[in-house]
Amino acid sequence: MTLPRKDLFHLPEGMIYLDGNSLGPLPVSVPDAVSGMLKNEWATQLIKGWNTCQWMDQPRRVGDMVGRLIGAPASSVTMGDTLSIKVFQALDAALSLRPDRKVILSDTGNFPSDLYMAEGLVRLKDAGYELRTVAPEDVTDAMGDDIAVVMLTQVDYRTGRMHDMMELTKAAQAAGAVMVWDLAHSAGAVEVDLAATNCEFAVGCTYKYLNGGPGAPAFIYVRPDLADDLQPALSGWLGHAAPFAFELNYRPAPAIERMRVGTPPVIQLAALESALAVWDGLTMAQVRAACLDLSEQFITQVEARCPMLTLASPRDGSVRGSQVSFAFENGYAAMQAVIARGVIGDFRAPNIMRFGITPLYLDEADITAAVDVLDDVLNNRLWDRPEYHARNRVT
Ligand SMILES: *Cc1c(COP(=O)(O)O)cnc(C)c1O
Repeated sequence: MTLPRKDLFHLPEGMIYLDGNSLGPLPVSVPDAVSGMLKNEWATQLIKGWNTCQWMDQPRRVGDMVGRLIGAPASSVTMGDTLSIKVFQALDAALSLRPDRKVILSDTGNFPSDLYMAEGLVRLKDAGYELRTVAPEDVTDAMGDDIAVVMLTQVDYRTGRMHDMMELTKAAQAAGAVMVWDLAHSAGAVEVDLAATNCEFAVGCTYKYLNGGPGAPAFIYVRPDLADDLQPALSGWLGHAAPFAFELNYRPAPAIERMRVGTPPVIQLAALESALAVWDGLTMAQVRAACLDLSEQFITQVEARCPMLTLASPRDGSVRGSQVSFAFENGYAAMQAVIARGVIGDFRAPNIMRFGITPLYLDEADITAAVDVLDDVLNNRLWDRPEYHARNRVT
């Protein structure tokens, strides 16, 4: 199998899409899959669909498909809710494994929602818990004997800087802490082997590199030997051992099923299930190699032609995820001007121009064409117009 697989995606004519790290494009199979689900399942089966169309089993079935891309064994991943919710669930379950410790350790490069959810959990528990954040490079040194949980996002959303999952998990566990990984910018982007890392929990979303569409459900992984002993904080009826017994008290379902909460988003899961077919016959090693190759070309060309940009991502590909970021004082306006010319990247405060390099649907010609636009916009100061300075609500 070769890359790219552009024919599997709907990519608008004339657009070069370097934002798959934020919202993946639409796989061409998805509209028919979703429409088929609506017309052949919902419309005709109605309530019977829960049984006749296996809607109830969808979170586990799709979870296994995601699991294959992140090195998780079968039946160790389930789908639902959004990533922020799954962070909360994983964190609470992780804390419960270390009742004598009170500190959640994370880093200042983490995505704010993960930190906000941790803050909320600490406040809710009201039992002396604390969220402690240190610089990404100081995480290992901060793993003292008071740390209950180390919660990290593998790939930094701004710079693409990548943590070493194996090393940090080993260090966290050696310090007696539980490891929670957020794979939001990893799943479908870099090689992850959850089973080999031996981490206790992992979470991630599916609308970025997995192309599940806006609002696509999140995933959660629990190491199989632990799942049967966890008391879920979000004890919804579909994580109950017998939802249709309608018992008055909660009894958790076996294994990963207990991390389900309520009714699964069946339409979004149908979209995601179809979207995941684009990975058939590919290994993450192939995807990663192609990504690094395109990323090197992008960095080399941008640095040669746009000296006003400063590489904000690690230069060493082995510690860089699937995105390349450049710092530029007028990054917001410059990105708007670039987008206006059909090259879609995004901007992250305070000054980061971010480009997702996704080899499923990008090739060398796209990279060169994107750099041509950047060169024109930056060297001719085309960004310096009032309309490019006005901030949109979503950047
Ligand atoms: C994208 C992202 C999120 C977003 O969470 P949602 O609940 O899906 O909106 C959270 N954490 C990280 C690390 C992310 O990259």
